[in-house]
Amino acid sequence: MIFPAKAILHKGKEQPVLRFHPWIFSGAIRQISGNPAEGDVIEVFSANGQYLATGHFQNNSISIKLFSWQQQSINETFWVEKIRSSRNLRKAMGLLENSHTNCYRLVHNEGDSWPGLILDVYGSTIVFQAHSLGMYNIRETLAKALQTVCREENIKSVYDKSSTSLRKMTGMNVSNGFLWGDVCETEVIENGCRFLIDIEQGQKTGFFLDQRDNRKIIGNFSDGKRVLNMFSYTGGFSVYALKSGATFVHSVDSSAAACELADKNAALNGFTDSRHQSFAIDARNFLQKTEKDAYDLIILDPPAFAKNLGTRHQALKGYAALNAETLRKIAPGGILATFSCSQVVDRQQFSGAVLAAAIESGQTVKIIGQLGQPADHPINIFQPESEYLKGLILYVE
Ligand code: SAH
Repeated sequence: MIFPAKAILHKGKEQPVLRFHPWIFSGAIRQISGNPAEGDVIEVFSANGQYLATGHFQNNSISIKLFSWQQQSINETFWVEKIRSSRNLRKAMGLLENSHTNCYRLVHNEGDSWPGLILDVYGSTIVFQAHSLGMYNIRETLAKALQTVCREENIKSVYDKSSTSLRKMTGMNVSNGFLWGDVCETEVIENGCRFLIDIEQGQKTGFFLDQRDNRKIIGNFSDGKRVLNMFSYTGGFSVYALKSGATFVHSVDSSAAACELADKNAALNGFTDSRHQSFAIDARNFLQKTEKDAYDLIILDPPAFAKNLGTRHQALKGYAALNAETLRKIAPGGILATFSCSQVVDRQQFSGAVLAAAIESGQTVKIIGQLGQPADHPINIFQPESEYLKGLILYVE
């Protein structure tokens, strides 16, 4: 038996751990024994010696990312049980054996008590993405555990796509590749809509699964509307809008590869004519050239404008400017679905930026819907920042 390293906290610093917050900052630690390397398992104790939790050690201001609050051996059985519990939760959400949707998030990082790991299921492929060295180091064990737990789901491959996330978190250079199997899924179905996906070359793990519910909701507003889908990526919102009876949809994204796939996705769902068009161009340029009243429904789903607290103020100004410009262009009686996926911008701050945009544009605006992240992207109640996706549906008179 190898005993894990130990961290003893300063007096009083056990409170967040007792409340299941998943991080321990370096300033909370009084003493570390066992000489852990980055990524090693470490047990955490209060100043008076009470066991609190277990996690992965990091050479970072976040010194420990916690994944268990019960003292036990961290072995293959532990990880099998942890994956099984995530899978059971997805089963309860109706995401397993679902003939309308075969792509979902199986493990969602901090929000799911799995700090450092994302697992996305795309039909027969699971994409593994480590956001900590601790999770990356056990990728083979986790892939084996997935094989055990997801046997019934007809999974044929696990693809490790950690190169970008791990470089960001640790500075390490690693290559992407298969942990088992050798072919990635290329097509998925979501709420009955078909999508081609490019797991290896595409953004994130291949598709923005977090917009599944919102695509359906916004689709319901699309009948008979002229739709502009800004920051469209591979046309998620566009396909739903087309299937729901939009007069036409214009998809705008700066990535030419994403636009190409958006066109293919429209065609795959039966829209091969001019009802769908993609524009590989900067969103703001497109908006500036757009004539007033050209669209009845506009979707704004930009990438995170703020990556950290230092850029939050600038980001809020960015959201306000983008939304103001859009509100000036939308046709009377139009609907704007506007989003922010910046973790450091909370719902209230985002609403404030949209309010500033409404004032600036001089339009009469009503909030007719509030949107968020779907069930398979859970929010850790003890860590409010894990609520990252915020959206508003606005009616513009
Ligand atoms: N709504 C999409 C996800 C959007 S992710 C979906 O449902 O799948 C954000 C997208 O914004 C990415 O595809 C990225 O390529 C694009 N993007 C980033 N900066 C941009 C810019 N300045 N102009 C247009 N698109 C941009």
